[in-house]
Amino acid sequence: MTVAVHWFRNGLRLHDNPALIEAHNNAEKLITLFIFDETTFNPKWYGYNPMRFLLESLIDLNNNLALVGGRLYILQGNPVNIFKMIKEKIGLHFITYEQDCAHLGRTRDEKVKSFCDENDIKCIETVSHTLWNPKSIIEKNGGVPPFTFKQFQNTAKQIGHPPSPVGNVDWLSVIFEELPASIQDEFKNLHNPTPETFGIYPEVPENLTSTYRWYGGETRALEQLKERLEYEKEAFVNGFYLPNQVNPDLLSPPSSLSAALRYGCLSIRKFYWELTKLFINKFEGDLLPMYSVTSQLIWRDYFYTMSIDNKNFGQIEDNPACISIPWNDIKIPENKKMLECWKTGKTGYPFIDAGMRQLMQEGWIHHVVRNSLASFLTRGDLWISWVEGLNHFMKYLLDADFSVCSGNWIWVSSSTFEQLLDCPLCVCPVSYGLRLDPSGEYIKRYVPELKNMPAQFLYEPWKCPESVQKQVGCIIGKDYPNCIVDHTIASKGNRKKMLALRVSMTNENRVPHCCPSDREEVQKFMYLPDECMQQLLPLENQDSKAYDIYKSH
Ligand SMILES: Cc1cc2nc3c(=O)[nH]c(=O)nc-3n(C[C@H](O)[C@H](O)[C@H](O)COP(=O)(O)OP(=O)(O)OC[C@H]3O[C@@H](n4cnc5c(N)ncnc54)[C@H](O)[C@@H]3O)c2cc1C
Repeated sequence: MTVAVHWFRNGLRLHDNPALIEAHNNAEKLITLFIFDETTFNPKWYGYNPMRFLLESLIDLNNNLALVGGRLYILQGNPVNIFKMIKEKIGLHFITYEQDCAHLGRTRDEKVKSFCDENDIKCIETVSHTLWNPKSIIEKNGGVPPFTFKQFQNTAKQIGHPPSPVGNVDWLSVIFEELPASIQDEFKNLHNPTPETFGIYPEVPENLTSTYRWYGGETRALEQLKERLEYEKEAFVNGFYLPNQVNPDLLSPPSSLSAALRYGCLSIRKFYWELTKLFINKFEGDLLPMYSVTSQLIWRDYFYTMSIDNKNFGQIEDNPACISIPWNDIKIPENKKMLECWKTGKTGYPFIDAGMRQLMQEGWIHHVVRNSLASFLTRGDLWISWVEGLNHFMKYLLDADFSVCSGNWIWVSSSTFEQLLDCPLCVCPVSYGLRLDPSGEYIKRYVPELKNMPAQFLYEPWKCPESVQKQVGCIIGKDYPNCIVDHTIASKGNRKKMLALRVSMTNENRVPHCCPSDREEVQKFMYLPDECMQQLLPLENQDSKAYDIYKSH
């Protein structure tokens, strides 16, 4: 009898899973497994919350497979060694999996493909983690990935809508194969693992309880999708779309599906088509271009496409997607200390600290807050490399994804030279936060030292008179840190550095790289106030030559 292994990696779901269908269609017996290996799903790289989310997703998948007579083996080891042993013990004819867009995953998959070629095993890779096949976009764009989002959208439009989700496997006709005990023992098959199984524990003080608890898995993701579609419908009725970005809400339970999409507990194509259908039903499809309604989902594809053939996407050196900026050396103790303050939420800027602590406590932060944290670390204040930020986010974000996270860091940090972000008001850790959460509830939630601070000092506690600090039991410099930089001075200095860099770059070395399409896009992406657009004018005159060169690319 022919045997297929369906190897679950990112697509941790039974719905819209073309590779799983291939496994069933091609072989008589099916084995389903997930592998913790050294190079991609390495437990050492995970913080507590993302690991818990991933393990819950695996347990949920196992439960759903059990309902149709199967099970998920959760193994640990080198994939090639695992497949080799399966072939020896019970025979192996097909390996199926979903395409991975990150270079580490692709390197791992190349090894598996070679093993399959040498052993007469058919390896079937399908595309369903993205809306479009990134390879097709690159081909359509003349062999290179589109470096701006608009360019990406235009290329995608030429291809047309992404494929619709595929149907479910006919479970009644599936015969599941058991993995022999010798294989389960050799590769330490895990039953209901928790982060503690891997020696991963929460890193936040016990008295800081999470306000919002995320649950991993397809079952919860599909429930959340229903809730999310209701929310989108309400927005359509009120005359707008993309509610999460248009009206950032930092306090209500988040309606985000990003972590579910990251692990493929929810199919991106299902999300895309459900949103599209909802919109067509509401407006008969002709009020807005369809791609605007789903544009947030398309951002994700944009970054995947940029990273698929770029093994250096997560670094500065030899990375064609980003321009190299001489960031501060973090080996210098003072800079290292600044980085540490940022990571631990002790910068003395309450809005920044609230975001960094929410990351550690819950693992998810709103896009607008991510923007402000990324800007603060890089071009806004500390002038520290985006790679440091990426590494920290990769460990603690629930939705941490190499391609998407790197791409966003490159885009925000300025490796794009976007002039609009030079404006010191734009992502000011005080005024940006105040616009988003005027009452300071968000700060009080994640920075409890400040919970009794009078509202007028919540964003700038260093301005609070000493007598009041004593009254509210929070002495600045003792109970809560003094700010580690003066934003006004730091942002002015950084702006000058950016300007000098722009001017010093000649036409020749200004190669195309990941950058915003235009200013409107920056304003929307970064949720910038209109005043920023006005602020920009004098600077543009001053820097018009550099700007012209930049724009000509
Ligand atoms: C520095 C930084 C790092 C980031 N790292 C990640 C990451 O590792 N993983 C991740 O999924 N998102 C990342 N983002 C993008 C974005 O912040 C999150 O996708 C978003 O906060 C998810 O919230 P939502 O689901 O409510 O978004 P919605 O507005 O509801 O968007 C729907 C979905 O579209 C996708 N999406 C939205 N915005 C973006 C974007 N800018 N880039 C790519 N996809 C997007 C997400 O899958 C999201 O769930 C990062 C942003 C920044 C500024």
